[in-house]
Amino acid sequence: MSLLVMKFGGTSMAGIERIRSVASRVRREVEAGHQVAVVVSAMAGETDRLVALCREASALADPAEYDVVVSSGEQVTTGLLAIALNAMGVPARSFLGWQLPVSTSAAHGVARIREIGTEGLRAAFAAGQVAVIPGFQGVTEGGRVTTLGRGGSDTSAVAVAAALRADRCDIYTDVEGVYTTDPRIVPRARKLARITYEEMLELASVGAKVLQTRSVELAMKEKVRLSVLSSFSDAPGTLVVDEDEIVEQELIAGVAYDRNEAKVTIVDVPDRPGAVAAIFGALADANINVDMIVQNIAHDRPTTDVTFTIPRTELARARTILDAVRSEVGFARLIADEGVVKVSVVGVGMKSHAGVAVTMFRALAERGINIQAITTSEIKISVLIAEEYLELAVRVLHTAYGLDAPA
Ligand code: ASP
Ligand code: MG
Repeated sequence: MSLLVMKFGGTSMAGIERIRSVASRVRREVEAGHQVAVVVSAMAGETDRLVALCREASALADPAEYDVVVSSGEQVTTGLLAIALNAMGVPARSFLGWQLPVSTSAAHGVARIREIGTEGLRAAFAAGQVAVIPGFQGVTEGGRVTTLGRGGSDTSAVAVAAALRADRCDIYTDVEGVYTTDPRIVPRARKLARITYEEMLELASVGAKVLQTRSVELAMKEKVRLSVLSSFSDAPGTLVVDEDEIVEQELIAGVAYDRNEAKVTIVDVPDRPGAVAAIFGALADANINVDMIVQNIAHDRPTTDVTFTIPRTELARARTILDAVRSEVGFARLIADEGVVKVSVVGVGMKSHAGVAVTMFRALAERGINIQAITTSEIKISVLIAEEYLELAVRVLHTAYGLDAPA
């Protein structure tokens, strides 16, 4: 007998028919003799609807009350799944975030999980029940409801699996697993049987939207056996594993992209200590995440240009903030470009192979795609390019690294 955590995303929970089919999947595991905790998302679109209601009620909704509202989507699906399971003859009961409890920090809207109480869950298992748990929800020490940030149910599931020392954490979603790239762009993308935590983490952080980045971080830290599977088919999914569990490592695991990018160039920044600190300090204080940064040395003049990227959705705020520090820093002006995207290749094989970056630069050059900025980590190379080349770039890189499935 194993202890499993099964997590179902919003598309899998959208409507009673789908919830029934989720219940059948859970029943299969129960009939195979496993103890099961299920973590669920709200129905697809529901959290967006609740967020919009809060905004409509007040542009400055109290974050604690916002959490009361937006966490409710998961309460509904949790109850419905427990009802569906019981109706199928599978004993089940719900545990809301505050009932377990899922103790979190008090950072409403972006709370971090501190600890999860497992006593109730253990008792449910002992009584032969499936435990159904809402993702995304938590509670502060003071008893206020919190949420973990958008997409947070993946993290809830991994945290429950870690707390229970579960044998597996299966994340059921609307795709069949992790692909070498977005199959909508490259139909010959391949599903990966295995991927390392590190690669999954990099892919999640550069735009592959299969799992929330935080959930992968937590799984890696807590050594949770994580897999990504489809709720709509029985195809084998992708298993996320330690590097040493992969015998023959491919050079590149995947190509990812992110459209939520804007490029900002600050023109004529005085070439003196503190100038760049003042610019990025102001953005950091406003919680704006800066990603790629390019700065040149000043030649024959006292100033230089600084270019960086931020989420496109933060551009308006960044402009206001930078305008406010312009005279203090003493730069000339700001140029923003929203027509850019980031394309990244990720693979642990890079650690031990030379020439990986050159393959990328050549493949792009051959198609006349200009690179506007570059960043690298030990297992990732990202380039910033014009948005109109996104699909072409993803396709040529997928081919250049030999990732295309056989025709
Ligand atoms: N329902 C929440 C959201 O849409 C959490 C989740 O689905 O992961 O962000
Ligand atoms: Mg989700």
